[in-house]
Amino acid sequence: MKRYLFGNWKMNMSGADTDHFFDNLPSASRSDVTMAVFPPSIYLERAFRAVERSGSPVALGVQNVHSAHHGSYTGEISISMALDCGATYALVGHSERRHIFGESDEATAQKLEACSCEGLRPVLCVGETLKEREAGKTWVVVERQLNTGLAGSVNPDLLLVAYEPVWAIGTGCTASPGDAQEVCGAIRRWLRGRFPGKGIPILYGGSVKPDNASGLFAMADIDGGLVGGASMNPSSFAAMAQAR
Ligand code: PEP
Repeated sequence: MKRYLFGNWKMNMSGADTDHFFDNLPSASRSDVTMAVFPPSIYLERAFRAVERSGSPVALGVQNVHSAHHGSYTGEISISMALDCGATYALVGHSERRHIFGESDEATAQKLEACSCEGLRPVLCVGETLKEREAGKTWVVVERQLNTGLAGSVNPDLLLVAYEPVWAIGTGCTASPGDAQEVCGAIRRWLRGRFPGKGIPILYGGSVKPDNASGLFAMADIDGGLVGGASMNPSSFAAMAQAR
């Protein structure tokens, strides 16, 4: 079965750190693992050159895009710019975009549709807050994010979904494999209903580390991980890529 390990560097890692990551990434990686990192977009080209120089199998992605093709959107980057600088993937609707920058389900849907249309593979991030989980609303929230985020015209062959409970991101409180599987299983059933016959990858994210990756990735409906903190160290990243 195909496995995925994606690293979200957020607003971390300098240009020199980016070079260091690729120069020190252990080469013993499994061929059945699709690996990608998402550097700050200002370093995307530098990462692309480092990938070429090191012969690394790691693909690149961006942490955010604007849905418009071009125009007066100060501070934003377009999908064609991301593609031009070497990106294959884009995170869409990461919880920090939703909760810190107030990105709505509708804006997320527009970005997802635009990525689909322009050939950048979107990773739709969904997940509940602690308050929502404690209120028993995990599936209500995740289903709403799926319904809205994937309401438009989406190419299922490009799509990936990441289940990232907000309370687990950057907190060290990883969801148990059983809890993560329960939601990922429900996401799988939802995706089968919306896109029959398509094997859309489902990643789990939220404080994944080398010592807990195997338990999570062994679950039936978890095809790999979207990792923040632990993805910036090349040895940890390589260790998680080997995790089963
Ligand atoms: C993330 O940024 O998507 C994430 C899961 O972060 P962390 O692994 O640090 O919890």
